[in-house]
Amino acid sequence: MDQLSQTLKTFGKLQINVSFAKLTTFKIGGPARFVLSIDSTENMIAALQYLDGEGVQYMLLGGGSNMLAPDEGYDGVVIKCAAKKIQVEGNTVIADAGAQTAQVARESVKAGLSGFAWGVGVPGTIGGALRGNAGAMGKEMKDDVSSVEAFVDGEVLTLSNEECKFGYRHSAFKTMGGVILRVTLTLKSGDAAEEMKKALEALKYRNETQPKGFASTGCIFKNIDVTEVNKKTLLKHFDAADEKVQRFIEIGKVSAGWLIEQAGMKGKKVGNAEVSDVHGNFILNMGEATSVDVHMLIEQIKEAVYTKSGLTLEEEIYIV
Ligand SMILES: Cc1cc2nc3c(=O)[nH]c(=O)nc-3n(C[C@H](O)[C@H](O)[C@H](O)COP(=O)(O)OP(=O)(O)OC[C@H]3O[C@@H](n4cnc5c(N)ncnc54)[C@H](O)[C@@H]3O)c2cc1C
Repeated sequence: MDQLSQTLKTFGKLQINVSFAKLTTFKIGGPARFVLSIDSTENMIAALQYLDGEGVQYMLLGGGSNMLAPDEGYDGVVIKCAAKKIQVEGNTVIADAGAQTAQVARESVKAGLSGFAWGVGVPGTIGGALRGNAGAMGKEMKDDVSSVEAFVDGEVLTLSNEECKFGYRHSAFKTMGGVILRVTLTLKSGDAAEEMKKALEALKYRNETQPKGFASTGCIFKNIDVTEVNKKTLLKHFDAADEKVQRFIEIGKVSAGWLIEQAGMKGKKVGNAEVSDVHGNFILNMGEATSVDVHMLIEQIKEAVYTKSGLTLEEEIYIV
């Protein structure tokens, strides 16, 4: 064992050459040279200080439900956030970054707190959800986050909601980097039975609208903002009387899944990667799909959507 692996072991559980296919919900990607699972915030900070000091390349992994890893793997250290404590104190829920988003939602529902029931169906960790400002059922992380503890540029900081600079599937962490350590949600007092109803509705909706049975990484592309320019483009390519088009203009977002469907890309395949025929914004791994298959399919989708609608799709997923 070399010095690096010996030291990494002092921070958590170390595994060598683990395939990204085992680390991500997409089940795609080559070997990660080191995977370090860290289950305490103190050890996480110590590990980050060490890696920064040594100039060792690393990346964070939550649930691996929003990423596409390369076939050739990753030569640095994959740090798996495994600190999972969730505390409910009055109207606040304080969760370590590695807590499952669904579990945080369940705890909030159980405590009769209102606002986060939508999180029950979102795969992955609260740290990953925070970074990408995950959302569903018309809500987003930004609606209920009161503060975030994070390791940024060598320091542990507490950021307010405003300082997180949330946007659609965006937070400051996407631009400034940093590692999310703990997330605090401040919710409203509610009724546990009522919240449970909302949670079940969220799960039912997901069940009815998302493909089942194959590995995926959720929505590949962001929905498109209806800016003045995009609105003109949309109306040039589609019938203004179309109910869907009217709805998109009303809510200010054009569904990427709908655009993909309009471009005739549902069911299109490259290798073992296929556009779901249930939800156009999902690419499914039909078995042993490669990262190259997915990248080629992504390019084909973008081209087809641009040709059909004049609009340009942008990836929502993190490409390692
Ligand atoms: C079937 C399915 C359904 C989905 N439905 C939804 C949905 O309804 N709404 C939605 O928004 N998303 C959805 N997603 C996408 C995904 O679940 C979310 O984006 C989720 O919040 C990602 O969390 P994760 O822990 O898996 O992140 P990962 O995929 O592990 O990581 C995503 C990014 O965050 C970074 N990261 C992870 N943890 C940290 C940390 N502690 N600090 C700093 N950076 C970190 C990673 O480095 C990476 O860049 C779905 C995915 C699937 C597979």
